[in-house]
Amino acid sequence: MDTGPVQQISDPFHIRRVAMVELQLRARGIRDPRVLAAMERVPRHEFLGPEFQREAYEDRPLPIGHGQTVSQPYIVAAMLEALELQPADTVLEIGTGSGYQTALLAELAGKVYSIERHAPLAERACQTLERLGYTGVRVLVGDGTEGWPAAAPFDAILVSAAAPKLPPPLLEQMAEGGRMIVPVGFAASQDLELVRKQQGQPLITRLDACRFVPLIGREGFPSGW
Ligand code: SAM
Repeated sequence: MDTGPVQQISDPFHIRRVAMVELQLRARGIRDPRVLAAMERVPRHEFLGPEFQREAYEDRPLPIGHGQTVSQPYIVAAMLEALELQPADTVLEIGTGSGYQTALLAELAGKVYSIERHAPLAERACQTLERLGYTGVRVLVGDGTEGWPAAAPFDAILVSAAAPKLPPPLLEQMAEGGRMIVPVGFAASQDLELVRKQQGQPLITRLDACRFVPLIGREGFPSGW
């Protein structure tokens, strides 16, 4: 992808994106240079409807349709940083949504697989990703709580919706030494959990408190939440 100065000068949002990285991310402790550079490159406004593009770099989640949201930039960066992604990693994302975080994963990892339960969101995300040149991402419409067994094992799994418990299929599909970041708790509030698989066992570290839309599926909340 061309990220040179010509593209940056012609992007009217570039200055807002730089300010977002400095004031919302670096100032709050995000340190991974690859994550900061990716957040500065990926045009968040392109993943939003025209009515929300002017707010794209503000410090909050924004609606993307079907009752769903794209997460606040800080939480997106914190999740990516916690995963310690390497360029050759194979990654699974649950909850494609707008495709914004998918694009960031594509900047940071090798192969990216993403699952979304709302077909219209998945279709729009695919169109945006393709238009921006992220052609290697595979997107599936379905229940992400069951994972993507045919593409497993995954070096990293990012779940961007709130789970009532760690979905067992996702634990199974983690590579040895793999990492998973997932909000776990009640529908109204959760803790962000970082799971590392070591000798087949999950080691869980609790990070920040957070609030995500529910993960709905066989190993998530029942539909209607
Ligand atoms: N990361 C996304 C972005 O950058 O736009 C935002 C994700 S949004 C917070 C959570 C997404 O998870 C929603 O699009 C929702 O439809 C999806 N979702 C909820 N349960 C799901 C499931 N079981 N499988 C796949 N996607 C699911």
